[in-house]
Amino acid sequence: MRLNGERLLAWAMGFAIIAGGVSGYWWGDAMQSVAWLGQLFLTTLKMLIVPLVAASIISGVAGLGDVRSLGRMGGLSVAYYTVTTFIAVTIGLVMANLWQPGIGMSLGSDLHAPIPKVGDVGVTDLILSLVYPNIIAAAADMKLLPIIVFCIVFAAALSTLGERGRPVVAFFEGLNEAMMTMVHWIMVFAPVGVFALIASRLGAAGGGEAFMAQIGGLAKYTLAVTSGLLVHAMVLCALLAVLTRRVVTEYLGHVGTALMTAFSTASSSAALPVTMDGVKAAGVDEKARRFVLPLGATINMDGTALYEAVAALFIAQAYGIDLSLGQQILVLVTAAMAAIGAAGIPEAGLVTMVIVLEAVGLPLEGIGLLLAIDWFLDRCRTAVNVFGDTVGAAVIGHRTGS
Ligand code: ASP
Repeated sequence: MRLNGERLLAWAMGFAIIAGGVSGYWWGDAMQSVAWLGQLFLTTLKMLIVPLVAASIISGVAGLGDVRSLGRMGGLSVAYYTVTTFIAVTIGLVMANLWQPGIGMSLGSDLHAPIPKVGDVGVTDLILSLVYPNIIAAAADMKLLPIIVFCIVFAAALSTLGERGRPVVAFFEGLNEAMMTMVHWIMVFAPVGVFALIASRLGAAGGGEAFMAQIGGLAKYTLAVTSGLLVHAMVLCALLAVLTRRVVTEYLGHVGTALMTAFSTASSSAALPVTMDGVKAAGVDEKARRFVLPLGATINMDGTALYEAVAALFIAQAYGIDLSLGQQILVLVTAAMAAIGAAGIPEAGLVTMVIVLEAVGLPLEGIGLLLAIDWFLDRCRTAVNVFGDTVGAAVIGHRTGS
């Protein structure tokens, strides 16, 4: 019964994405009239994020029992995120060197676009961003990283209380279940939501002809990013098959709705409730799922890392700047950091791109070259970000599961 509903929803969402694409293509601007339906879906999903992340982490970490299991799972998560992020950036660098997308680009009027501002981005700033002076304000501002840190420490403290801590854990377990039930209810509306999101965004981009012209102008760049993302997705499938002995197509069937939600919303945070549901249906170990997924949705962004590398090299090529091997290694490291620093919201990667460009001394105005097509590439990389998170949860669940 569950599987049938799941399949039906996946098909309906796939159909809605295609229908949204076709409608946005043909009717262009007119499709902006359905934008509010997409907004409604997006906002409803977002509404669940903070309570879901808190309940999921607290019940997941408290369920781990002792601090050693938490250390093991945390250590494995960080190791997995680091390895796959570096694989992603390396694929990005290879693609940019193979396709040479920036060679021959004309540096036209696009360069007058405003340069995005990023906050401070040193290692100490990264550490400082783990905490927030007021946890309620962090929740209100949807600052997920400090919420996650607070919840991990809170759950660890709860597990030292024995009997007295149990009712509190039970409360968060109940809250988690209730949130997941609400996700199911919201997903009934998902096909309409994704249709509206895709159709209205394509409409806002000026419809099919304008979109094709934008892609045409940046064809090689688009191909370099999308083919890199495809290769990385295949690497993730291989990791899943080898490290967890799962049947990849079956797993994809379960997480498909999450990937489509990520593609439609361009936000791994907004997709998180659906991702959790998909990974649950795939039978991933509960504790890994509750702990690894929220963390992954916040800091593990393979698609973004890959894109940052391609984009940096694209800008260098467009400006005729030759990057030495040493500078490309600097791109490797800073692109990984920029991806960790990017929030799971639309086009966050474009903003943290500044970190990479500044590190290797590339002109920040180059970001202007990427703007026209970024809304589309953002969706592609967000789907890969979310896929990376789900594979991480499956791998870590397999290694640590009971
Ligand atoms: N939109 C992406 C995400 O939410 C972040 C990015 O812009 O790359 O995962």
